[in-house]
Amino acid sequence: MNYTIIGAGKSGLHAAFLAQDLGHNVFLTEAKPEAEAKSAAEQLAKRSIDAEFGGHTNKGLKADIIVASPGVPPSNPFIQEAEKQNIPIISEIEFAWRQLDTVRNPVVAITGTNGKTTTTALTAHILNNSGKKAIACGNIGTAITSVVRGLEAGTILVVEASSYQLDRIVDFRPDVALLLNITPDHLSYHGTFENYCAAKYKITLNQNEKNVLILNADNEPSLAAAAHSRAQILHFGVHPLQQGLYVSSGKLLIPRGHPDSQHKEEQLMMVDELRIPGIHNVYNSMAAALAARAFEIRNENIRDSLMSFAGVEHRLEYVRTVGGVEYINDSKATNINSTWYALSSYSKPLVWIAGGRGDNNDYSTLDDLVRQNVRCVIAIGEEADAIFNHFSSMVRCVKASSLQDAVSRAADFAESGMAALFSPACKSFDMFANYEHRGQVFKEAVTAL
Ligand code: ADP
Repeated sequence: MNYTIIGAGKSGLHAAFLAQDLGHNVFLTEAKPEAEAKSAAEQLAKRSIDAEFGGHTNKGLKADIIVASPGVPPSNPFIQEAEKQNIPIISEIEFAWRQLDTVRNPVVAITGTNGKTTTTALTAHILNNSGKKAIACGNIGTAITSVVRGLEAGTILVVEASSYQLDRIVDFRPDVALLLNITPDHLSYHGTFENYCAAKYKITLNQNEKNVLILNADNEPSLAAAAHSRAQILHFGVHPLQQGLYVSSGKLLIPRGHPDSQHKEEQLMMVDELRIPGIHNVYNSMAAALAARAFEIRNENIRDSLMSFAGVEHRLEYVRTVGGVEYINDSKATNINSTWYALSSYSKPLVWIAGGRGDNNDYSTLDDLVRQNVRCVIAIGEEADAIFNHFSSMVRCVKASSLQDAVSRAADFAESGMAALFSPACKSFDMFANYEHRGQVFKEAVTAL
């Protein structure tokens, strides 16, 4: 068959390699000029995969199937032409899925606006720590197409699935699906909040009665996925629930289930035994624990694993303490909602560094937290003026010319006992290659203090 792959990022490259390994004719088309995608071009040339850079010509339309990389919007003219010609367009997770035998290799898929990477890493950690073999893949960094071949029987794939990847599935059917939360994000791609929710609900589109869908009882749009599902549903939340997992009086509790059930309510662990900070991580931990329970992992193993999981880089990552001030790197907070959780995760007074590229940011949802917890706001990047104008009547605000400048201003202002939190609430692309690069720059600036 003729495969056209759009995009030479990690998932596109590995989709191309997989298609070639399966014996198909492969053509890859990338919008960026070759000079900006050198390493990809080299890897493709090494495998003699035909590719074009700097735009999508009609050559890619001579395809039986197109695999589109995440982030290529439906409005892309090449995509529109392919659709007009009725060429099937699938995402990379759909392509990988078609190579899997899920009786041998079960799949857990995790989506949500925030918490995907943490929960993916955490779920894989619990499974690996409890005698199973699990691979964390998808958006988390290891392309799923790079791991689906030659898997040992029993290995579980824990897949971080973005709404872009889910938008173009056909048959993808995870054994266990997690929908952590949905709040407005990526609206420039999906157009409306309804479209964005619809893409997320596709995680359960093909699930059947034997599969499990795990939903956030405290997030309406997540709960609403139940109406689109045939799977068994489990909930997590911070109010008493009849099934699933919930928090009460500082404990994680597993309710007894059906009122006639023989089981008693069980205590999984105390909330303060969790190693990762913040209420959002309580949610992530509950979701991951429920996924592990779907594989019959014992409570003791789940508890031990939750106590030993140290978190993922750039997510409320403790960097160092200087002069009694704790520096925290939360560069991955690329939207308002994730910063809301960051600001609510610390009881210490905060110096908050924020800014970057906005995505229709509405800062007013942070007002109460900023009044309560923040002593000084340091604004950077394209959103610096918007942040300054929004918060300067509430709390001391300054604008900094760079992230390094922001760190040195934070160090000047902060007193012993405070924390300096870098939680941008914005995308990184105005000043950095990506959020990892931005987090690295922050940590280097803190190390240099
Ligand atoms: P994602 O992969 O969905 O972007 P991450 O696990 O990488 O999520 O976390 C990104 C940021 O979102 C973190 O820096 C944290 O501040 C915030 N966050 C993590 N989990 C949640 C959650 N369950 N709800 C809201 N915000 C969260």
